[in-house]
Amino acid sequence: MIFFVRHLQKKKLILLTDFTNLCYIFNMFYFEDFNGTKILKSDFIQDVTAYFTTRGEVCFPVSERIITPVQTHSDHIEVVDLKTEYPETDGLILTNSNDTIYLKFADCTPLIFYDPVNKIGAVSHAGWRGTAAKIGVKTVEKMRVNFGTNPNNIITLIGPAIGLCCYEVSEEVRDKLLSTVQNSTDLYKERNVDLKKINARQLEENGVNKIDICPYCTSCCNDLFYSYRKENGTQNRHFAVLQLH
Ligand SMILES: [Zn+2]
Repeated sequence: MIFFVRHLQKKKLILLTDFTNLCYIFNMFYFEDFNGTKILKSDFIQDVTAYFTTRGEVCFPVSERIITPVQTHSDHIEVVDLKTEYPETDGLILTNSNDTIYLKFADCTPLIFYDPVNKIGAVSHAGWRGTAAKIGVKTVEKMRVNFGTNPNNIITLIGPAIGLCCYEVSEEVRDKLLSTVQNSTDLYKERNVDLKKINARQLEENGVNKIDICPYCTSCCNDLFYSYRKENGTQNRHFAVLQLH
C-alpha cells in the first residue's frame, strides 16, 4: 500500500492506494483550522461521504458514534464497547461497524492495525513514551488474547510522524527507545531517533510483518500536518480515523 495526499474541499486527506481490497476504510485527516475541541460529527461524516461517493466505490455508512479517547501518552488499550468515555487511553480496538474511532496526533506516531480474518481493527498513539512502553505490540497482544488475532495476518499502517531528520531526544530517551528492540542499528543517528521505524521493528520482532510506513515527516511537511515541535507546542491535531466496513 502507498500513502498519498488528496485534496477535498480545501482539506487534505492521506489515503491508501488499495484500500478497496479491504473491507474497511482508513484515512488520515488534516483539517486546516481544526482541532479536537471543534470537531463536528456532521462535518466529519459529510467529508468522508463526499470523498467516497465521488469515487463511486463504496457507500460510506453514517456512523452511529464517533469515539475519541482521552490520550495521555499511556500504554492503556481498551476495546470499544458501549462506553462513551475512554479516559487515559492511547489505544482502541474496534470490533463493530457502527462506531468510528479517531485518535489525535501532532508528531506522535499513529499505528493502525487491521485483522482481515476476524475483521477487527485498532488505532494506537505512540509518542516516545508509548513507543518506549511498546503500545503497538501490546495492542496486537490484546487483539490476540481477546479475539484470537494471528499477528501474521495483521496489516499495519504507520502514519505520518516526526522523522529521524527532525526528532532529536536526550541520550536517556534514545537509549530507552533503542532498548525495546533487538536490532537497532538503523533506527537512530546520534541523538535523533526514527519513531516510525522503532515501532515497526518492535512489531516485526513480535510476528507482525505486513507493515507500511508513511514517508512523511510531520515537522518537514508542516504544510500538510501539525507538528508539536515545529509549531512550538501547538494545540492543533490531525487524526487517524478507523471504521470497519
Ligand atoms: Zn523532518
